Amino acid sequence: MKSCKIFILIISLFLSLCVCKRSSEVSGDFSFYSPSEEKTPFPLVAPIPVKNVILMIGDGMGFTHIVAARTVVLGAQGRLTIERLPVTGVIDNYAADEFVSGSAATATSLATGYKTNEKMISVLPDGTPALTILEAVREKGLSTGLVATSTITHATPAAFAAHVINRYHEAEIAEQLLKCKVNVLFGGGRALFRPGLSGYKFRRTDDRDLIEEARKAGYSYVETRDELLQLKAGTNYVLGLFNNGEMITEYPAPTLAEMTEKALAILSQNEKGFFLMIEGSQIDWGSEDNDINYTIREQLYFDLAIQSAIRFAMNDEETLVVVTSDHESGGMFISVNPPNKLDGKINIQWGTDEHNGTAVPVFAYGPQAERFMGWYDNTEIPKKIANILSVQDFPRKMIKE
Ligand SMILES: [Zn+2]
Repeated sequence: MKSCKIFILIISLFLSLCVCKRSSEVSGDFSFYSPSEEKTPFPLVAPIPVKNVILMIGDGMGFTHIVAARTVVLGAQGRLTIERLPVTGVIDNYAADEFVSGSAATATSLATGYKTNEKMISVLPDGTPALTILEAVREKGLSTGLVATSTITHATPAAFAAHVINRYHEAEIAEQLLKCKVNVLFGGGRALFRPGLSGYKFRRTDDRDLIEEARKAGYSYVETRDELLQLKAGTNYVLGLFNNGEMITEYPAPTLAEMTEKALAILSQNEKGFFLMIEGSQIDWGSEDNDINYTIREQLYFDLAIQSAIRFAMNDEETLVVVTSDHESGGMFISVNPPNKLDGKINIQWGTDEHNGTAVPVFAYGPQAERFMGWYDNTEIPKKIANILSVQDFPRKMIKE
């Protein structure tokens, strides 16, 4: 009997430790985020033809991530930039084989308009490659770009310009990104491009130096913030690899906003227009770690990048900005202490250290933004973009080489 009681005591101690681990208080320094007093939505604009599309993906970002970040830096009554986009929608994000999806299958849906299985990158469950929206607009002569704070070969950016049956084949994805001649590639992942580099779980196992190959193919190459900021106007192809593995997301590395602004300066030189995908990759990682300070920091860096994109779009007037997420991570739950006080200190509890199957938000600004209203499937996003950019025959399977 006594040993039974001790056993129950040990189990309850263990359980209470688990619960504690899943609850976190906010204590980070977010002074890099300069709050705007402005709360009103950005205006709806006339539905003229769209020349450029910027698609922004907060990896793992759910509604609660946005509310938590806003409440911490602006109070409950403030508004982050993301919340001021005038059109909102909701998307479902299940995969072809699982309800709670991973980033590879959801990114494939956002890039190709098809559902696929877990871990697959822009191929259908039977292995047939599916054309991505980036490849489709490239065929029409638009410039293209991918910007991320993960390795640039990570699931989300990869799904826009590569086709592999397993997302972890990042060295092969690196080859495909360059073969696709994406104009701008900014992120981490040097170890996937150059042999002999450490600092990441995957690396090149052959002796190809893809950075040299890229240079020979006409790319400028940068790997520091200063080199990025000093890039000359007139550059049409740029490979920017800012770490061997995933990026550190703040100084001395370029921030997501700085990469966004440089990408926009390069891509907007094309009179025919451009398609740019920007990922706030590490919102997901902060949430999977159940680390509220990391999560909010990444959410706010993503918000600053959205600010840069909106500023460009307001000035340009022919640019559509769509902001969404691939799935929710962390199952975040907000309460306040003391309870029921509007200005209480927020306390976060986590439901999981993985993804969950809840729907995620969509926000849009610019001409044709209204098309993103409503509740629909994630496969609709690239179909709507294709329609807006007059891309025929999308979604489309590719013939296997
Ligand atoms: Zn994801």
